[in-house]
Amino acid sequence: MFIKKNFSLKKFNTFGINVYARYFVEVKSIEDIQKIFDIYPYISKFFLGNGSNILFIKDYYPGIVIKMGMKGKKVIKENDDEAIVQAYAGENWDEFVNWTIKKGFSGLENLSFIPGTVGAAPIQNIGAYGTEVKDTLIKVQAYEIDNRKIREFTRKECQLTYRYSCFKHPYYRNKFLILSVFFILRKKYKQLNTSYVEIQKELENINVKTPTINDLIQAIFNIRQKKLPNPKKIGNAGSFFTNPIIGVLDFKKLKYQYPDITGYSISNQKIKLSANSLIENIGWKGKKIGNVGIYEKKPIILVNYGKASGMEIYSFSEKIMKNIKKKFGILLSREVNVIP
Ligand SMILES: Cc1cc2nc3c(=O)[nH]c(=O)nc-3n(C[C@H](O)[C@H](O)[C@H](O)COP(=O)(O)OP(=O)(O)OC[C@H]3O[C@@H](n4cnc5c(N)ncnc54)[C@H](O)[C@@H]3O)c2cc1C
Repeated sequence: MFIKKNFSLKKFNTFGINVYARYFVEVKSIEDIQKIFDIYPYISKFFLGNGSNILFIKDYYPGIVIKMGMKGKKVIKENDDEAIVQAYAGENWDEFVNWTIKKGFSGLENLSFIPGTVGAAPIQNIGAYGTEVKDTLIKVQAYEIDNRKIREFTRKECQLTYRYSCFKHPYYRNKFLILSVFFILRKKYKQLNTSYVEIQKELENINVKTPTINDLIQAIFNIRQKKLPNPKKIGNAGSFFTNPIIGVLDFKKLKYQYPDITGYSISNQKIKLSANSLIENIGWKGKKIGNVGIYEKKPIILVNYGKASGMEIYSFSEKIMKNIKKKFGILLSREVNVIP
């Protein structure tokens, strides 16, 4: 374990912001973690995965950035129908998903190609194409900072909902370092989730009527290639905002006034609004201010066109939020974790 001083995080956040950390370390074991807490009991700590969902707004982080590097994945238990697998937090998420598929397990395929680590997946209950981590997660093992003990959270305790978990709650935020995650996956009855309209369209596009798991993954790959910017080419952190959830009556009123706004029903009473359509409706599609802009193909994604600072991106997001609040009375929330 090597502690680095005054370390540039440019390569450790997909926005490509050149923020410096006072200290930086990659931890690969519980012993490493304990040592860091012994050496630096009091300075602030930030837990880092692959930096694909964060925005540092200052140029300097005055504490220690602890990159989770614990690796390993294994099948804990299996029978003819199901398998329980454990993956350590520093594993690359997509490589882990691929590993489960190669083993003949299903349940995570719709979450293929999401950047990041296994440890960050429960933090915002990652989701894509009609599937969320909560559908297969059974428990999370975490290191509790205050008492330096390992604690387990059941799926229920994790409180996984749309882009949320208890780890984002102010009371729990930064208090637990996730060490590993357990999933229950299907072996038999591999019912694929192709319900998402975009997936159905893409399967039609590639002429597949009865998709195999590999066809589904190919369709997801194609959609993501077409719609999402590659952080290696242009700095971004995926969706910057979450889609707001409003009541059915409010949606009807909004739709009457602004017919272009879209949303879909998530229960009898609630509608998930498309933040993309709200941003388009304020006329910000393709907008650019200085080094920051809105991604043409998906307005919910903010991009760093060059040497943007974290504050520039943050201010840009503030402007979008203000305009949306003014026009529709709706408060957008940031999906990206802002580090003050
Ligand atoms: C191009 C692109 C596409 C994306 N598509 C999707 C998508 O389809 N669906 C989706 O849900 N997300 C998507 N994302 C967002 C992102 O990939 C996920 O949120 C991912 O889980 C972040 O993982 P990470 O390791 O990079 O986490 P980081 O960005 O490093 O961290 C995110 C948060 O988790 C915390 N954290 C990280 N690891 C740990 C740990 N071990 N213990 C405790 N806290 C931890 C950090 O402190 C931070 O608050 C996308 C991002 C990009 C750039």
